[in-house]
Amino acid sequence: MNIPKTDKKRVVVIGGGFAGISLAKKLKDLDVQLVLLDKQNYHTFQPLLYQVSTSGLEPDSIAYPLRKVLRKLNNFYFRWATVERIDPEQRRVITSKGDLSYDFLVLATGTKTNYFGNKDIEKYTMPMKSVPQALNIRSLMLQNFEKADDCVDEKERNALMNFCIIGAGPTGVELAGAFAELKNNVFPKDYRHLDISEMQIHLFEGGPRILPPMSVKASKKALQFLCKLGVTVRLNTIVEGYDGETLTLKNGETIASKNCIWTAGVTGAAIEGFNKDVLVDRINRYKVNEFNQVEGYTNIFAIGDIALMQTKEYPKGHPQVAQPAIQQGELLAKNLKSLLLGKEMKPFRYYDKGTMATVGRNKAVVDLKRAKFGGFFAWYIWMFVHLMALVGFRNRVIVFFNWVYNYINFDKAARLIVRPYKPKE
Ligand SMILES: Cc1cc2nc3c(=O)[nH]c(=O)nc-3n(C[C@H](O)[C@H](O)[C@H](O)COP(=O)(O)OP(=O)(O)OC[C@H]3O[C@@H](n4cnc5c(N)ncnc54)[C@H](O)[C@@H]3O)c2cc1C
Repeated sequence: MNIPKTDKKRVVVIGGGFAGISLAKKLKDLDVQLVLLDKQNYHTFQPLLYQVSTSGLEPDSIAYPLRKVLRKLNNFYFRWATVERIDPEQRRVITSKGDLSYDFLVLATGTKTNYFGNKDIEKYTMPMKSVPQALNIRSLMLQNFEKADDCVDEKERNALMNFCIIGAGPTGVELAGAFAELKNNVFPKDYRHLDISEMQIHLFEGGPRILPPMSVKASKKALQFLCKLGVTVRLNTIVEGYDGETLTLKNGETIASKNCIWTAGVTGAAIEGFNKDVLVDRINRYKVNEFNQVEGYTNIFAIGDIALMQTKEYPKGHPQVAQPAIQQGELLAKNLKSLLLGKEMKPFRYYDKGTMATVGRNKAVVDLKRAKFGGFFAWYIWMFVHLMALVGFRNRVIVFFNWVYNYINFDKAARLIVRPYKPKE
């Protein structure tokens, strides 16, 4: 890899997500050479991916070029590369674009979709972890509606208009609410010769309640909202298989659907090269100490979703959401400075700012330490927090105007099939 050699220490960061960019931004005063590697050349604001999937926003309003985020940093290099392996003994990373040595390595690779070993589910359902995947869902949905409008066979038409979302965490709930809004407000105007009541939205959850990471109060409220919007929520229901046409439940029941979206779990996007003991089975997160140092190494750190820091308060690690990733990135910048100056590092303490999820227009739930509530005010807070958290002023302005336009007009305007999706056979 063509990165100039200097006498400065080289910090290599893998991943320009919430954790990676929070760290990199805070390294601006540190006299090191910073190299950021990412398989995408942009940062993705994952919390709003569902709005791209459901035609509410265009992808360029929730993604931001990584070179632009960090262009004010001195001694900063970005390389668009997938890291394939790490050689901790030689202090090298092996990437799709060549090898690179490091003095300090930061793993901030986040997570990938977890199919729990079910190959058919992996092949045929639609994941939603990246911009291309969100666009695939949008294209498939619109293509299937175009087909349904021209379809005389009732069974086939129902399958084209049936939506199944598997996993009722925040992503599944937000997605189901957004599909329901398309059904209630947008599609009846676009497809005037279709009976839109044939569009069914099913949300499946293996556990006893939706939004399991949130309070029981929030789950109940969100369930009420979804039912009001016309979503069929199936709790304690395990999805066992899908072949691209038919979804099969554990109890043997089948549902014909050509739109199945998998939001039922994630696993760490770990990179090969470490001793197996460093990774925790199933969840694939790197075990780290309270300074985010990967077990057994003093110069390798893991931050964000990929890091498993087990504490008294969080015995299963911190929640895999944006705040721990941002806070760990910011603290690690300070700790790297301390390390270089021979000072003591500070341990990480998570400050939980609360959790929230939206179900649709005027409908959201918020869990704060001191208050738990739902409805219009919660929705307003949800919008404000997400707007402020977006990377880039331009993106904030575009998203704000889109939301105002959509709110006033009961519309979701990004209904373009730009790159048709070819379902797997
Ligand atoms: C659909 C969805 C909705 C969400 N909604 C919310 C929400 O409302 N609120 C909330 O707080 N959290 C939400 N989250 C979770 C939140 O997005 C994550 O917790 C957060 O992104 C974690 O940050 P991170 O930096 O650890 O990883 P990420 O943001 O995932 O970044 C990882 C980066 O590493 C790169 N990368 C991975 N592997 C490699 C490799 N081998 N080589 C090079 N680059 C690599 C990726 O391209 C990516 O840019 C949501 C997540 C999803 C998927």
